[in-house]
Amino acid sequence: MSDIRDISLAEAGERKIKWAQRNMPLLSAITQELVKTKPFRGTIIALSIHMEAKTACLCRALALGGAEMHVTGCNPLSTQDDVAAALALGGDDGAGAIDVHAYHAATPEEYARHLTAVLESGAQIIIDDGGDLVNLLHTRLTHLLPDVIGGCEETTTGVMRLRAMERDGALRFPMIAVNNAKCKYLFDNRYGTGQSVWDGINRTTNLIVAGKNVVVAGYGWCGKGIAMRAKGFGARVIITEIDPVRALEAMMDGFDVMTMERAAAQGDIFVTATGCRGVIDSRHFNSLKDGAILCNAGHFDVEVAMDELEAAAASKYEARHNIAGYRLKNGREIFVIAEGRLVNLASGDGHPAEIMDMSFAIQALSAKYLIENRDKLKTGVVDVPEEIDTDVARRKLSASGLMIDTLTPEQRAYLEGWGAQ
Ligand code: NAD
Ligand code: SAH
Repeated sequence: MSDIRDISLAEAGERKIKWAQRNMPLLSAITQELVKTKPFRGTIIALSIHMEAKTACLCRALALGGAEMHVTGCNPLSTQDDVAAALALGGDDGAGAIDVHAYHAATPEEYARHLTAVLESGAQIIIDDGGDLVNLLHTRLTHLLPDVIGGCEETTTGVMRLRAMERDGALRFPMIAVNNAKCKYLFDNRYGTGQSVWDGINRTTNLIVAGKNVVVAGYGWCGKGIAMRAKGFGARVIITEIDPVRALEAMMDGFDVMTMERAAAQGDIFVTATGCRGVIDSRHFNSLKDGAILCNAGHFDVEVAMDELEAAAASKYEARHNIAGYRLKNGREIFVIAEGRLVNLASGDGHPAEIMDMSFAIQALSAKYLIENRDKLKTGVVDVPEEIDTDVARRKLSASGLMIDTLTPEQRAYLEGWGAQ
C-alpha cells in the first residue's frame, strides 16, 4: 500500500503530469510502443528518482509496458506530494494506481523506510538515481539480491559509485549507465542543469544575477551549463576546478579560473556541481562576503559542508522560504538555499520536460534492453548501446521538425577508406 502525504492532492498532481506529458513527445511515442509489446509483462520494477511530474510519466510508461511498479523519490526534498498522490491514485491513461512510497521532507529514517519498501516488493529491475537502492541491496538487504535481474543508473555520481563497486568486485548484477549516454549527459547535465539551477535560484531568492560574481565549482557537464547560463544573465563567472584540462577549458571559454580560497572572497552566488564533498567548508566560511549565497547542484548535500557551517555559525534563521541565514562570528551573514541539497530540484521543479523526455526515453529503452538481453549482460557497469543513443537523437530531431543529411555511398566509402584523396 502506498505511503504518501495526502491523496486529496491528486488532482493538482495530475495537472502537472499532463502538462509534462504533452511536452514529452519521445516518451509518449515510446509508451505507445510499450503498450503494444508489453516487454515488462510480469516484471517488478523498483524506481527511485525525484518524485515529480516527469518521473511520474516514466513510471506510467513502464507500467503501461506491463511492469508492476513500486516507486519512491531519490531525495527527501524533491518529492512533490501532489504528484505522488496522483501516481498513487492513478489517472485516465490506463496505467492504473502505482505503489508510491514518498513524501516531501521525509526524515532520514522515513526516507530509508521508503527505499526499503520498494525493494521488498521483490524488485527485479532497479532504476536508481544516485545509487541509494543499489547500496541498500548490497548492504542491508542482500537477501533480496537473488531476484534482481539488473538495473539502470540515472546520474554521474551513481555511475561513479557503480564503477567503484565493480572495481572492488562488489557489484552483483548488470547496471546500465544511463547517465553516460550522449543523449543524457550532453543535454540533461549541461542544458537541463544550466537552466533549472538558475530557475531554482531565481525563484527562491528573487534577486538579480546580472552584475554579480557567480562562482561555479566544477566545470564538468553540469558546471558548464550553469556557467554558460550565468554568463547569459550578465554575471561575471569564476570557475574552480581540480582537473587541469577542465580548468583550461573554462579559461578558453572565457571564464576566470582560481582556487576556492580566492574565489570565496569574491563571490556573490556560489553553485557547487562537483559530486565531491567539502568543496566549500570551514576553510572558506570566514572569507565569504556579507550576503553571499551558497547552493549546490551536485549529488547529495555534502558539497557545502553544512555540518561545519552549523558549527561555525553564531546563529541561524529562516531568511525566506527555503533560504537559511547564518550569522557568522565575524558579524557577516551568509545564506544557503535548500539546505545545500540540489537547488534545481529541492527549490524548483528540476529539469524542463523536454530534457527529461530525452533522459527518460533512454531510461525506458535501456530497461527494455535489459529485460530483453537479461541472459547476455555481464555483471558490472554496462554502457547504453549506441543504437539507443542514436535512436533517441533521431526521435528528438524528428520531434523538433529537423532533418539532417545522409552520406552518399561515395562519401561513406571516402570516410571509411584510407587511400582516396
Ligand atoms: P562531471 O564529472 O562531468 O563534472 C564534475 C567536475 O567537478 C569535474 O570536472 C571534476 O574535476 C570537478 N571536481 C571534482 N571535485 C572537485 C572539487 N573538490 N573542486 C572543484 N572541482 C571539482 O560530473 P557532472 O555530470 O557535471 O555531475 C556533477 C554532479 O552533479 C554529480 O554529482 C551528478 O550526479 C550531479 N548531477 C546533478 C544534476 C541536477 O539535476 N542537479 C544533473 C546531473 C548531474
Ligand atoms: N540522490 C541524488 C540524486 C542526484 S540527482 C541527490 O539527491 O543528490 C541528479 C539527477 O536528477 C540528474 O542526473 C537528472 O537526470 C535528474 N533530474 C533532474 N531534473 C529532474 C526532474 N525534473 N525529474 C526527474 N529527474 C530529474
